[in-house]
Amino acid sequence: MTTIIDTELLADVQRFGAGDVSACFSCGTCTAICPLSDNDGTFPRRIIRYAQVGMKDELLSSKELWTCYHCGLCSDSCPTEADPGEFMAAARRYAIASYEPTGLAKTLYTRPVVGPLIAVAVAAFFAIFMFAARGPQDPASLALFEFIPENLIHLTGIAVMGVMALSGIIGIVTMSRRVAKHENVSLPTLFGSRAALTRTGSALWSALGVESLGQRRYREDCKDDQPAEPWYRRRWLIHALSIWGFLGLLAATILDWGLALTGVKATGTPIPLWYPSRLIGTLAGLSLMYGVSMFMANRVRKVNRASMVSTASDWLLLVLLWITGATGFLIEVALYLPDAPAVVRLGYWVFLFHVAVAMELMLFLPFTKFAHAMYRPVALFFYALAGDKSKQPA
Ligand code: SF4
Ligand code: SF4
Repeated sequence: MTTIIDTELLADVQRFGAGDVSACFSCGTCTAICPLSDNDGTFPRRIIRYAQVGMKDELLSSKELWTCYHCGLCSDSCPTEADPGEFMAAARRYAIASYEPTGLAKTLYTRPVVGPLIAVAVAAFFAIFMFAARGPQDPASLALFEFIPENLIHLTGIAVMGVMALSGIIGIVTMSRRVAKHENVSLPTLFGSRAALTRTGSALWSALGVESLGQRRYREDCKDDQPAEPWYRRRWLIHALSIWGFLGLLAATILDWGLALTGVKATGTPIPLWYPSRLIGTLAGLSLMYGVSMFMANRVRKVNRASMVSTASDWLLLVLLWITGATGFLIEVALYLPDAPAVVRLGYWVFLFHVAVAMELMLFLPFTKFAHAMYRPVALFFYALAGDKSKQPA
């Protein structure tokens, strides 16, 4: 097989936040200390080597890229201060930008002024688009779906979700094909026999259930760089609460649509707290808000290696998630407050802001750090498929 060398690869990855790894001489200290290092003794330094020698295809086909949780132990012990943990994070950003064809992820990651300007313009577009179709504001109550027509929100939401899903699928297929080729995995390997199907099912459960939802290796194997922190500040818990919160909100939204479609309630009307969609939505919202707020506080305080370097894109995702969550709670509270004119007036504008930001958030998901939630399970799937080689990275 011919290996194509890209002499710009190292410089390209550095544009995504990596430090100078040219001094790395593959001593193996990072491999020795990494709690997720596997038996072949090359993780994570093999990825650095790929960048040093310009092996772009190998880097982008590497499942190992997605299995580091950025605990920073390797960076603390590296004799050349190459910061391998941050290098892995930057290489993942580079991969996210490489798997999607539009160039938006690259712009958001590498253009600290243009990226946020695009974000503001997109949010403004959604707000103006919704505002242009606005209905009356009822001074006596919050008739939110008369102010911004329910159908407009649904149709715009479906269109945005379609673009998001298409972008996500293109990225996942691109990454999967690369990794599958690198790992010699073909369709018959996955589905060619009963044994293959069983192995594929088991690998899927391991990747999606045990690792992605259960966070097993993050929890058990990844030695956190905050040993003195209380449990509620542990990185794995903050990470897990953010994921569970996001998935819970998705489930609540689908349930809410289901209740509206079956005529149990009209969309946007208050329902008792114990209704499944509201109960799940409230708990998931609290979970997401806690996780995202902690991520933001950690980045401001730079409490660990993972929060030392923040790109504009990292902040964009956190800010969009936080605003969507906070405005969602404000609207929920406003719906139960007495119909004071000032509250009603404010409620309408908060709702418009919430809808515009939520649309932008959905649209941008595959182009920001959120994309690792798509690619990591794929990498974990290939790991599980390759078999349990005692201590593979997770
Ligand atoms: S990144 Fe640092 S610790 Fe790891 S192999 Fe290179 S020089 Fe050694
Ligand atoms: S898991 Fe931790 S020690 Fe291992 S490569 Fe990632 S940052 Fe380094």
